[in-house]
Amino acid sequence: ALNGKSALVTGSTSGIGLGIAKALAHEGADIMLNGLGKPEEIEAIRASLAAETGRKVLFSPADMTKPDEIAALVRAAEQGLGKVDILVNSAGIQHVSPVEEFPIEKFDAIIAINLVSGFHLTRAVVPGMKANGFGRIINIASAHSVVASPFKSAYVAAKHGLLGFTKTIALELASFGITANCISPGYVWTPLVEKQIPDTMKARNMTKEQVINDVLLTAQPTKKFVTTDEVAALALYLASDAAASVTGANMLIDGGWTAA
Ligand code: NAD
Repeated sequence: ALNGKSALVTGSTSGIGLGIAKALAHEGADIMLNGLGKPEEIEAIRASLAAETGRKVLFSPADMTKPDEIAALVRAAEQGLGKVDILVNSAGIQHVSPVEEFPIEKFDAIIAINLVSGFHLTRAVVPGMKANGFGRIINIASAHSVVASPFKSAYVAAKHGLLGFTKTIALELASFGITANCISPGYVWTPLVEKQIPDTMKARNMTKEQVINDVLLTAQPTKKFVTTDEVAALALYLASDAAASVTGANMLIDGGWTAA
């Protein structure tokens, strides 16, 4: 029941963002996709989503480390789709390293993509949302917005910051029909998780199986990865009219991780 709505989903060429973009389109929303990757693979994703759903599906390769590209992305979404009702910030990267060896440029990139891009996007979409009296800002944070893990200093700092940012804008926008919330997943099996396994093996001197069972799944009492479909279902709820009173919340979907 998102007919007539438009959504901009950053980091939607893969993983969680792609799962959310697909779910929003199947629910009736027009979509601006964004992210990195091979142009022909992204075009295949875009074209098949448009064909399956009959929705307008656009794509922009805007780099989330570049404020001018982010502003242009929002303009392209507003012009191409008419408006942005739903903003989902899912672009993100990870790097695993002891703090004293943490590459400075990696730290800066994680803060820029996982935290600061959310500010630039919000800043650019809010005027339109205020004018329409409706908006849904959904920031994909992490269980690492409330707890830490060693060797993830940049990521944990960014995700804690993203939650604080989200709570602040929720207060500012509450009387304009605009909600702002975080979805905070535990471990979801996506390229982001798969790619951190080799460095975690090194940092902790473990095998791949030990990293999966003794580092990743040990955190989750369910002993299962969260799925992108489960995260997408939560995003659909937050985007819906039924969630009008849910704002400033941190929606944990973490297999019980942070209950411990
Ligand atoms: P992923 O690697 O599958 O997808 C990340 C997306 O971000 C891709 O589309 C990629 O192209 C895009 N991206 C990366 N750098 C970018 C840049 N500079 N500009 C534009 N786009 C860029 O990862 P994922 O697991 O789907 O992660 C999505 C979000 O979910 C991230 O914010 C991540 O921190 C968060 N998250 C993931 C997990 C997990 O276990 N996978 C858990 C909690 C939170």
